[in-house]
Amino acid sequence: MEQQHPILFKNTLTGQKAPFVPLNPAKVGFYVCGITPYSDSHLGHARAYVVFDVVYRLLRHVYGSEAVTYVRNFTDIADEIIARAAENNEAPMDLANRVIAGFHADMQALSTLPPTLEPRVSDPAVLRGIVAHIQKLLELGYAYVAPNGDVNYRAAKFPTYGQLAGRKLDEQRAGARVAVDEGKESPHDFVLWKANANSATKMVQAFSPLELGATLPGFTALGRPGWHIECSVMSAQTLLAGGLGQGATTFDIHGGGEDLQFPHHSCEIAQTEALTGQPMAQVWLHNAFITVGGTKMSKSLGNFTTIKDVLAKHSPQAVRLWLLQTHYRKPVDYSEAAVTAAEKPARRLQAKLAANGPQAAADAANPHVQAALKALCDDLNTSMALAELNKLVGLDTPEAKAALPVVAALLGFA
Ligand SMILES: [Zn+2]
Repeated sequence: MEQQHPILFKNTLTGQKAPFVPLNPAKVGFYVCGITPYSDSHLGHARAYVVFDVVYRLLRHVYGSEAVTYVRNFTDIADEIIARAAENNEAPMDLANRVIAGFHADMQALSTLPPTLEPRVSDPAVLRGIVAHIQKLLELGYAYVAPNGDVNYRAAKFPTYGQLAGRKLDEQRAGARVAVDEGKESPHDFVLWKANANSATKMVQAFSPLELGATLPGFTALGRPGWHIECSVMSAQTLLAGGLGQGATTFDIHGGGEDLQFPHHSCEIAQTEALTGQPMAQVWLHNAFITVGGTKMSKSLGNFTTIKDVLAKHSPQAVRLWLLQTHYRKPVDYSEAAVTAAEKPARRLQAKLAANGPQAAADAANPHVQAALKALCDDLNTSMALAELNKLVGLDTPEAKAALPVVAALLGFA
């Protein structure tokens, strides 16, 4: 498809805004870290997945819908799931499946397009892949078996560990006591395989490395994968499953909330690049938080509002509009009043779209479509693209009528 404006993304890894050039424009790969399904998702998740939905829509518009593979995983084996399931007196996988169904309903309500692939850690092929990846890290000296049976990543062996988040190893002091408790060589090391003997939840969902293909002495303790290794393996596997190319090692884009820069994405990079010697992703995109009165919304702080709670009071279009009014790298402060203020423009837009009716596709030179694309191609300037959409709501020229559904679809309103 004709592209008048190159897409510019600000890459977290470099801190620079630069033209986006896919490794293969016919096979664009886009990976976004998904949820750990143990309770209903909150507005912070809504923001991330609405932002990355617009990235996906933009990539599809520019490269063609068949050319883009969007991967969003589920971390469906996790201590949080096991603990919550025990409280509920149910099987962990029953809880995970129920939360995933609710998450899909939330995502559909918010008009996010389904990803191409949604890999799950519990898939036996993923578990085998995790064990194989850990085994290779052990063989290459990037990992070691701790006295408690855990397998840890030796952070000092990967010289640029933490670079994504602008951290240097010698500045990282947090977790020093943890290292002593868990038999780590260094407080910077992180777990690849958690032996269940030391887990609060003991033998629930314990997997045998031997049964999953491990052959190295010491890598035998029943346990579970660490969180970070899951994404390294799922992204490597989906590079192949997504048809992104035999031997492909690099996603074009890897995204997530800014809290994932460290440790999660920093660990993913260390795990993946230790084996491939290639960048895990060309471009790293991170969205800022939802805040409440200036404080980050999070489950641990208890100041969260679930997507379901918000949708019980507000139209999904208003929620989406409110989320996209702010640039993805700036925080959005949540208040009832802020979402309520988006109801009226959202209703006007829906009414205009209904009155506009079906239109012949706008031609590529349509100035309104071009203006919206120019905004989105400038590191996803959704507020400027929304301003163009809002302008179209007030116009009745043939050009505007033709552009309205196209611009609305780019932003996920049609
Ligand atoms: Zn991840």
